[in-house]
Amino acid sequence: MVFESLADKLQNTFKTLRGKGKLTEADVKAAMREVKLALLEADVNFKIVKDFIQKVTDRAIGQEVMSSLTPGQQVIKIVNEELTTLMGTTRSKLTFSSSPISVYMMVGLQGSGKTTTCGKLGNYLKKQGKKPLLVACDIYRPAAIKQLQVVGDSLAIPVFTMGEISPIEITKAAITHAQRYGNDVVILDTAGRLHIDEMLMNELVDIKKAARPTEILLVVDAMTGQDAVNVAESFNAQLGIDGLIMTKLDGDTRGGAALSVRAVTGKPIKFAGVGEKLSELEEFHPDRMASRILG
Ligand code: GDP
Repeated sequence: MVFESLADKLQNTFKTLRGKGKLTEADVKAAMREVKLALLEADVNFKIVKDFIQKVTDRAIGQEVMSSLTPGQQVIKIVNEELTTLMGTTRSKLTFSSSPISVYMMVGLQGSGKTTTCGKLGNYLKKQGKKPLLVACDIYRPAAIKQLQVVGDSLAIPVFTMGEISPIEITKAAITHAQRYGNDVVILDTAGRLHIDEMLMNELVDIKKAARPTEILLVVDAMTGQDAVNVAESFNAQLGIDGLIMTKLDGDTRGGAALSVRAVTGKPIKFAGVGEKLSELEEFHPDRMASRILG
C-alpha cells in the first residue's frame, strides 16, 4: 500500500515523542532529522522537505509545544497539520459549468491511466445523476478508441467516436452531439505520448481552444515518483491545468509525488485512482491522507 514505509518510519519516530512529558529543543531536532529522512526516502521533492522541516521545527520549538501539557502529541499534531497543508488543506472539488454542459479535458502521458480514468470519472459523475458522454480524441492509436468504447460499454455510458480525423473536429462535433442528446458532461480522452513533445502540446492547446473546457485534468501515475511532478510542471506551464488525478495510489509506491505535486505546481489533486476497476476512484482529501500517513 502507498505510504506504508513512510507511515512506518514516522510512526516509529513519534512513538518516542508521544511518551515524553517534557521535550527539549534537542528532542525536537532529533525527531525532525528522522522525519526529514523518511520524507526523502518516500521520494518527496528535496526543497519541499527542507521547507516542511523548517516550518514544523519553528512551530515545535516555539511556544506552541513547550507550554503544552503533552508536548509529544503537540509535535505530532503540527506534523499532521503541515502535511495536510502541503497537500492543499481542504478537498478541491470538481467545478461544474454554469452553462448546461461541463467539459472535462483529460490529458496525460501514455500509460498514466488516462483512458481508464475517463471511465472512472464518467462513472463517478453518472452516480451523481449526470449524463456523461465520453469522447475518443486519441486518434493515433486505434486501440485507444476501442479501449474507450469497451470502458463506456461496461458502464453504460455513451462514447462518441469519429475514427481518425482531426481531434479538434471531433471535439467540436462531440459538444454539438452532447447538446442535441442531452448530455450535461463531456469527457475528452486526448492522446498521450511516451514523453512530452511539441506536437502533442500544440494539439492539446488547439483542443483547449475548441473545447473551452470547464477543467483540464492531468492524469499522472504516482508510481513514477518525481517524474510525475515534472510532468505536472510541464503540462501546467504549457497548457495550464486545473487539477490532477493521481493514479495507482494503490500500488507499492513511495508516495512522494502525492506529497510534492501541490506545492510544486500550485494545482490540487482532485481525485486518486486506487485500483484497476472502474469504481476505484476516490475524492482526494488532504486531511485524511495526512492522518493515514501518521496512523
Ligand atoms: P492510458 O495509456 O493513459 O490511457 O492508460 P490506461 O487507461 O490504458 O491504463 C494503463 C494501465 O494502468 C492499465 O493497465 C490500467 O488498468 C492501469 N491503471 C489505471 N489506473 C489505475 C489505478 O488507479 N491503479 C492501478 N493499480 N492500475 C491502474
